Order: sequence, then C-alpha cells, then structure tokens
Amino acid sequence: MIGNNIIGNEKVKKSLEKAIDSNNIVHSYLFIGKDGIGKKEIAVDFAKKILCLTKEETCTCKSCTCFNSNNHSDFFIINPLDDKKIISVDMIRSMIDEVYKKPILSDSKVFIINDADKMNESAQNALLKTLEEPPEYAYIILVASNELLLLNTIKSRTMRVSFNDIPSSDVEKYIKENTDVKNISSSLLEYIGGSIGKSLKVIEDIDKYNAIESFLQKTEKEDIVDYFYDGKNTYTKEFINQSLEYSEVVLMGFAKENKKYLNCIKYVDDCINRLSYNANFDMSIDMMLFKIWEEVNENSSRH
Ligand SMILES: [Zn+2]
Repeated sequence: MIGNNIIGNEKVKKSLEKAIDSNNIVHSYLFIGKDGIGKKEIAVDFAKKILCLTKEETCTCKSCTCFNSNNHSDFFIINPLDDKKIISVDMIRSMIDEVYKKPILSDSKVFIINDADKMNESAQNALLKTLEEPPEYAYIILVASNELLLLNTIKSRTMRVSFNDIPSSDVEKYIKENTDVKNISSSLLEYIGGSIGKSLKVIEDIDKYNAIESFLQKTEKEDIVDYFYDGKNTYTKEFINQSLEYSEVVLMGFAKENKKYLNCIKYVDDCINRLSYNANFDMSIDMMLFKIWEEVNENSSRH
C-alpha cells in the first residue's frame, strides 16, 4: 500500500493506489497541502510504484531494489537550493533535458519537484510545455504548500491532489509512540496544527514551550515583581519568535475560560510588531509583560 508508514490522508493514498492498479496514472500531478504532513513521502512511494516492473505488493524487482538503495537511474527529486531557497530556471532546464532521455532501468521515469512553489516565475514558465506534453514514459509530480505562488498555467496543466492536515489526536499518538514525550498540552497540539514535521521540531524545544505555558498560567496568581522576574527569564532573545507565537495560542486557549485573556493577545501582537521594527528587546518584553499582567489583574478582586 502506498504511504503505509505515513499517518493520515487515507483517501489520497487509496486514489493513488487505484490509479496504479487501473493503469490510469496521469503524467503531471500537483500534491498540495500544509508542510510536514507527508506529501513528499507519499510522492516518493507513488514514484516507486510507478517505476516498479511487477506492481506486486512486496516486490524485489530490479527497479524496486535500486529504488530502495537510493540508486535508481529513472527517478529524480528536485529540491530548492539550500542557500537561495529557490528553484531556478537552470535547475528546471537540466531536469527537462533529463525528461527527454529514455528510461534505462524501468519502463517509466519519475520526476518530483519538491517545494515546487519555490520555483521562480521563469522556472515555472520553462516547465509549462513539458508539463503539458511530456513523453509517454515520463511522470512529473509537483509537491507544494502555497499554491498562491504557482502560476495558473501550471495549476491547469496538473492533476490536483489535496492533502488534509493530520488530526491532532493522530499527531498526539504519533508523538507518544515515536518520541520520549509522553505528555503534550492541548495548546501545544493546537500550535503544531496537524503537521508531523512541525511536531518533531517543536518536540526538540518542548521544555521551552512548556515554560511559556506555565509562566502565562501564573499571570493571575503572581505579584507584579515576581511576574516580571520570571517573565524576563522565560522570554529569551534566541527563542523569541516561537515564544511569542506560542503565547498567542496559549492565551487564546485561556480566553475560552476568561475573556480578559483575549485582550492580552493584542499586547503580544504589539510586541511582535515592535521587535520586527528592531525596537529595544528588553523594553518591548517589559511592556508586554506589564500590559498582560495589568489586563488580567486590574479591577479583579484579589483578596
Ligand atoms: Zn518492483
């Protein structure tokens, strides 16, 4: 089964499987959906199946053997250049040269353009003709998260396959089964937003995220001096973007119980804005902490 090891998107997997079984594979696909939900992994699995010489479930044909050892002459993945985060027209041109050379090992050739939304406009234009009329043996799969960056002419020449976010309960299950983390807060699951890829990044810094949440929980209980002291230790420069983003998610959760927290989100926003204009770091954090504390504690009965 395609995508056996990947959580979620069962419908997509089934439809790709069906395309293989009924020999109805189209030549140009666009796999679209959020980052970190397994689009590329499923595309790679699909490619393996397209290239396979037997189409059997467990297969040791020459094509599958080479594919499994990352050494298949008819399979190509184009990734953006790391330093430029762009797929250039030259990269697309050399891919196209390769498209018109006949396959060696398999009956087909598969090209995956990963992060295809990183193709600049000239790269996209260079691809159009090949996308429209590829050779009979060639298959091209575009994998992208932001379709606004793709030309309509690209979209109209590809078969769109939409991927869904992974349900939070599945992300939670995945984390518990595959990492040392056994407890994950609902705010953190909300922040992860159905992406296994993002969950793995978040887990690396889980202590920092948890510290933000426990700090904000103290807003109503601590006096202002202690609150400032803890706040300065919690919001550190090197982790500030994630800390502030996550604070908004946590406060949104608190706001469901207590509406005062809704206003606090605005103060975090202000802080993000100020920092983006290179305002003084300490002053921006101080102001945010003060405003949040005041919003929650002012006019409340603190006996
Ligand atoms: Zn095979």
